[in-house]
Amino acid sequence: MNPKIWLSSPHMGGTEQNYIKEAFDTNWIAPLGPNVTGFENDLENYLDQDVHVACLSSGTAAIHLALVQLGVSLNDEVICQSMTFSASANPITYQGAKPIFIDSENETWNMCPIHLEAAIKDRIAKGKRPKAIIIVHLYGMPAKTSELLTIAREYDIPVVEDAAEALGSTYKGRKCGTFGDYSILSFNGNKIITTSGGGAMVCNTEEKKKNTIFLATQARDQAPHYEHSQVGYNYRMSNISAGIGRGQMEVLDKHINLRRKMNAFYKSIFSDVKGVTVLEESNNEIFSNHWLSCIIINEKAPFTRKELYDLMLENNIETRPLWKPMHLQPIFKGAPYYGSNVSETLFKTGLCLPSGSNLQEADLQRIANVISKLKQE
Ligand SMILES: *Cc1c(COP(=O)(O)O)cnc(C)c1O
Repeated sequence: MNPKIWLSSPHMGGTEQNYIKEAFDTNWIAPLGPNVTGFENDLENYLDQDVHVACLSSGTAAIHLALVQLGVSLNDEVICQSMTFSASANPITYQGAKPIFIDSENETWNMCPIHLEAAIKDRIAKGKRPKAIIIVHLYGMPAKTSELLTIAREYDIPVVEDAAEALGSTYKGRKCGTFGDYSILSFNGNKIITTSGGGAMVCNTEEKKKNTIFLATQARDQAPHYEHSQVGYNYRMSNISAGIGRGQMEVLDKHINLRRKMNAFYKSIFSDVKGVTVLEESNNEIFSNHWLSCIIINEKAPFTRKELYDLMLENNIETRPLWKPMHLQPIFKGAPYYGSNVSETLFKTGLCLPSGSNLQEADLQRIANVISKLKQE
């Protein structure tokens, strides 16, 4: 059996262990320490826009702390893109609030501005002003950010930007992860860079960063003893994880280029296949890191999604349907949804393909072989 080809697996650059060794040599094994500060500085420099970054234990923790700081609480409503990973929406539930889900548009597969505005109007008419809007840049593809932000501003609703999949993507020349009232990143094992597990809050003021760190370290008030006037969390990143992150930052742009090459590879092998479209930038104002390359297979294609999925699996190649929309998930049954069947159709017809920056020529050959076999059938 050939070795497994993964959708997206960790890809170390080589210097990560130096930062970890330094942490061991100086006994900075405990949480925090110079690697955390160093990784935060690296991210701040990379993202630009005078942002302030607080490294946390996960992207989910970052979304949770964003909602906490926006005052989201029991029975509040929070708007969220429906087609996304459950981690975008779960923190709404942690706060006892209710998610309101919005459909995608066809161009970027992210939140549809038209349905967003319709939802806001309808919720306000029903007597509830949404407390926050969670937008997502799925698979690294920047959402229609200007349109979404304009609507959010018009109704004066804060935006949480879930850029977990979009580190290095840009919208009108500006990095994703710098557009929200709070923005979040993830360094989970399958993301474009990894710290084995971790995330970050990107803030537009130093004060927000300080408050994020305060909440993430058990909300200790100023006192010689342990004094608490707010509920705190244990959400900070460890100095060991941050060491991996510092090494990964050295190869981030190189790895983005390699992911983009994977996308170009799929565009080329599917270029002569009717009924198959590869997700790509719809205009030159957006630049995707192409964290995952995805395709849509419609009825004109010479093979079905299931046939492609099955033959890939048989050849030990991992593929996966697109994110199942949240309004179709059992945990969010009954949540309000504003849409017109775009995310449902994407879920039925889409497939994520192996996209890692560490895939080799031989891997691409195996993938191409499976696809050319199906083309001929
Ligand atoms: C990975 C991911 C998250 C959560 O990040 P973790 O670090 O795994 O908690 C949130 N949103 C999206 C869209 C993601 O892909």
